[in-house]
Amino acid sequence: MKIYNTLTKQKEEFKPIEPNKVRMYVCGPTVYNLIHIGNARPYIVFDTVRRYFESVGYDVNYVQNFTDVDDKIIKKANEEGRSTTEVVEQYIAETLQDVRNLNVTPATKHPRVTEEMKQIIEMIETLIEKGFAYEVNGTVYYNTAAFEGYGKLSKKVLEELEAGRSERVTLTEEKKNHMDFVLWKPKKEGEPYWQSPWSDGRPGWHIECSAMAKRYLGDTIDIHAGGEDLIFPHHENEIAQSEGANGKAFAHYWMHNAFLNIDNKKMSKSLGNFKTLRDVGEMYGYDVVRFFMLNAHYRSPLNFSAELMESAKSSLERIKNAKMTLDFALKNSQVEALTSEEETLLAELPKLEARFHEAMEDDFNTADAISIIFELVKFANTYAKEGASKPFIQAVFDLFNKLSDTLGLLYDLKGDNEDGLSDAEIEEYIEKRKQAKKAKDFAEADRIREFLKDSGVLIEDTREGVRYKRV
Ligand code: AMP
Ligand code: ZN
Repeated sequence: MKIYNTLTKQKEEFKPIEPNKVRMYVCGPTVYNLIHIGNARPYIVFDTVRRYFESVGYDVNYVQNFTDVDDKIIKKANEEGRSTTEVVEQYIAETLQDVRNLNVTPATKHPRVTEEMKQIIEMIETLIEKGFAYEVNGTVYYNTAAFEGYGKLSKKVLEELEAGRSERVTLTEEKKNHMDFVLWKPKKEGEPYWQSPWSDGRPGWHIECSAMAKRYLGDTIDIHAGGEDLIFPHHENEIAQSEGANGKAFAHYWMHNAFLNIDNKKMSKSLGNFKTLRDVGEMYGYDVVRFFMLNAHYRSPLNFSAELMESAKSSLERIKNAKMTLDFALKNSQVEALTSEEETLLAELPKLEARFHEAMEDDFNTADAISIIFELVKFANTYAKEGASKPFIQAVFDLFNKLSDTLGLLYDLKGDNEDGLSDAEIEEYIEKRKQAKKAKDFAEADRIREFLKDSGVLIEDTREGVRYKRV
């Protein structure tokens, strides 16, 4: 399996630290707002990376933090006259609900900064002891000049910064080098704080991820991931902290997703050009959002527009219809044995599956993987239909489910919803309607049809029987 590694700027063969295991850390959001669809991109992309590893037999330990202390959270709490705890609890719950709607598997562990202070303080103490950090008036800074590898992840960015900086930025009195960053800072009036050897205060942003990755995954991890805006300074600083404190390589592979843009500009809270995932998910379907994101390679910028969402919606519809057709054909097939023509056709399935893996093993090329699912859809629509044998339809259906599940594409939100009818309940109503028709009680049959329609289920009488569709 090949992964593009930001650290070496090339695709590399993936070699796990432990056989069949992946230790993966993904930077999570700061929780003070509903997430926007740009934030949904890393959730979907790295969930798919995880699913793929799991589908080929890896055990993935997936850690994703919540940043629950931050200036923006404090500002929001003050604006709304609420405590920071209330704000944080609300938006962690909202975010978890949003990403569940995207069919993102919950992380093995979702640590929160406020619950990791002991580990954070210990790591800062180690950095001071080893000469990688210094304290001035209650603030602790990382001494970037002391870490030889500083800049190794983001070289280019640093060079640009060096070139542009000399005249414009003057060094503050406290810092030894321009690039030095805060590990611990004293509290300001009214801010949440924790006790430490240096001051009552709180940690800087970067140290949290180094401390959490160490606690839950160990000193060296396989994959560290996040959006490309995190390469500098966040990930560069994480490397300096973790490698400085632990004396070992931090992450073997660094993966970064490109931006989701709107009108060719990055979608972001600060630019104010964002759309919440909640709004877009409710409008087009959360499954359409997931499908839309996976239709592009994760390292290519992706533009958001209403037209593109509409087109993603109708493409996904073709895949959903194929699933219904296969399901229906399987239930209604009367042919028990494979025909010889079918036997020949079945040889195509492993070829499609192999090409799906080839695409995914080439740095998770989900766009190509989806095009292979469409080839399978075409194959299913052509051969696995009325008149085909049960074992043939089953084989096509199994592969179809396997591939679409690997990408997490088809899932039923309404199935989990207490307000919606379950499959079994729908089948029961369909059976009742059938009985009513048999007894020539057409008024009752129509009432059942109307009731199902009001519950969001459309039924269709076909020659082979009744089909239904959730709308
Ligand atoms: P933030 O809460 O801004 O730190 O973002 C949380 C995650 O979303 C990080 O991994 C960011 O890199 C990522 N992210 C933010 N905006 C976008 C965007 N427009 N496109 C893709 N990823 C983004
Ligand atoms: Zn991080």
